[in-house]
Amino acid sequence: MAEKIPVTRLDDPASTRSASDALGEGNDLLLDSIHDFANKLTQTGAREALQRYVDWQVAQRNAEDVDAVELDPSQVPDFAPVSINLDLTTACNYQCDHCVDLDILNTGVRYDHDKLLSSLALMAERGLKSVIVIGGGEPTLYPKFGETIRFMKSLGLQIAIVSNGTGNLKIAEVADCMDKNDWVRLSLDSGSDETFQAMHNPRKSFSLYDICAAVPKIRAANPDLTVGFSYIVTWRGANINDRDIVENLHEIAQATQLARDSQFSYISFKPFLTRDEVNNAEVIGINEQTHKEAIVSAIQQQVDDAVIMATSDFKVHRSTGLKALLEGQIQKLEKQPQQCHMQFFRQVLSPLGLYNCPVYRNQPHGKLGDKNAVSDTQAYEATRGVAANLIRDFNATTNCEKVTCLYNDVNWWIEGLIQNPDAMATLSDNNTDPDYFL
Ligand code: SF4
Repeated sequence: MAEKIPVTRLDDPASTRSASDALGEGNDLLLDSIHDFANKLTQTGAREALQRYVDWQVAQRNAEDVDAVELDPSQVPDFAPVSINLDLTTACNYQCDHCVDLDILNTGVRYDHDKLLSSLALMAERGLKSVIVIGGGEPTLYPKFGETIRFMKSLGLQIAIVSNGTGNLKIAEVADCMDKNDWVRLSLDSGSDETFQAMHNPRKSFSLYDICAAVPKIRAANPDLTVGFSYIVTWRGANINDRDIVENLHEIAQATQLARDSQFSYISFKPFLTRDEVNNAEVIGINEQTHKEAIVSAIQQQVDDAVIMATSDFKVHRSTGLKALLEGQIQKLEKQPQQCHMQFFRQVLSPLGLYNCPVYRNQPHGKLGDKNAVSDTQAYEATRGVAANLIRDFNATTNCEKVTCLYNDVNWWIEGLIQNPDAMATLSDNNTDPDYFL
């Protein structure tokens, strides 16, 4: 039985832009614009979905008996997510020691390609704006990788590709169809080939330096395209699946130099995530027993050395999670509202199914349907009903209490709008240079 959510009104939810503000505490965690999801949801193209979602939630909560509210899919706003993570394949040619998806790799589970295309077309018709082609495997290994990217661009979608770097030539081949707001990010996590090999265990002889040497080919194929170097920071004592993780925090500055010399547009740092023992959520794998203070200090020193290498053409980013770790604010991002609203705006489509959040990829409690959950109108309608139930019943406060949630800020902001819906009218329109990646 669902619990009725208490309505406590915030004074000015429309101006809320950080988890700490929403919780009435000081110390903002300043968000990079790429992580200012509240701002992105007020853009033309996403704003109507936001308005309809807030209206729907207000109606649900104002019903006399919330349990009696009929969650008929026709009452659920008829919008696809604004943004999805798309796992094209579960195949991977690495065996990364820090991989949170190791148990789902190379399982042979795959899409029916035509149904994948019809899912993408249907979602685009119903409001999907962006697709991050990402994990669960290496996307460039999908046999119809290029065709799928070009198909999604023909639908008018913004596209991002997150790759391990072994398919750089395939990315260069499709780069011409991508736009300046699209991006590519390579997960490399090291400054030396020795550490790269130890962390990623490639099945063939791929070297860090060869991968970096191919980046100028992508940039030459499309000079407008942003190409990033992604670095998951690891430390001694970190482990997952009962395996110790290779430490790389001492190579942060070295990797920054390599990225800049290799014509990357930026390097970004985020902390290592492990799986929580209780509910398998992805959580930052650090604790007092792993010499947290010394680790944080060493990372900070390296990041300080990295930041001074930034130029007008090369940026150095710290993820929200890393900022929280370095600034001692992890706990703020672990305090979620009861309802996770972002399940409506951003989902994960994988050959293993449709999921409510990247944190719960392949976890049964986050499952919205199978791989064909939105491949035709009938399936799409059924999935709307499942999503409505999950939005009502998935308790983010407890399920995600150990997750340093990237969407913590925007979830609290939407919660504030639901509690004070008049504030929707005071939000300014945000039409310039839209970025729909969530
Ligand atoms: S609260 Fe955060 S971690 Fe939990 S399901 Fe929502 S977006 Fe994912």
